[in-house]
Amino acid sequence: MIPSSDRAQNLSNRSMATGTSSSSLLPIDEEDEILMLYGSKSGWVEAKTHCDHLASLSSDLTHIPTPDTPCNRCQHPVENWLCLCCKEVLCSRFANKHMLEHYKLADHSLALSFSDLSVWCFSCNAYLDAQVIMPLQSVHFTAYVLKFNEPPPLRAVECVHITDNRADGSSTSGK
Ligand SMILES: [Zn+2]
Ligand SMILES: [Zn+2]
Ligand SMILES: [Zn+2]
Repeated sequence: MIPSSDRAQNLSNRSMATGTSSSSLLPIDEEDEILMLYGSKSGWVEAKTHCDHLASLSSDLTHIPTPDTPCNRCQHPVENWLCLCCKEVLCSRFANKHMLEHYKLADHSLALSFSDLSVWCFSCNAYLDAQVIMPLQSVHFTAYVLKFNEPPPLRAVECVHITDNRADGSSTSGK
């Protein structure tokens, strides 16, 4: 008879070896996780802070469909993209590629992912930094609030100074 604890350990070792499942069991140290998210020197492509195709943005991006809107064409329910030019919601290249098709047919380059709220430019073939590129900030903000019911966390961006309001208590005493 095999002691059940040994068997369990065996199983969990095997699932670790095969990858993605049950990663919560092992303590990933934070640095590794950051490397996994952002990549090391190779592989990770920086989001662009400039794009020549912003002129095609919809003039009203304050009213956008909610992030759970299905694909307008095939009703695919999740991980859709919002066209930032005409506000159509279309599925990704991992579903039925309707956003990609829309770019080819309508020449609408800019799309916002409803799964991670990143902005992709098909013409630049690159992600755009929606929190840095001015015309994209408000739609990113709006989509974030729709998805999470709260405003996005402030990010330390070099060109933005948010320290002025914290001028009380001149030294860094903390609590
Ligand atoms: Zn572009
Ligand atoms: Zn679709
Ligand atoms: Zn469009």
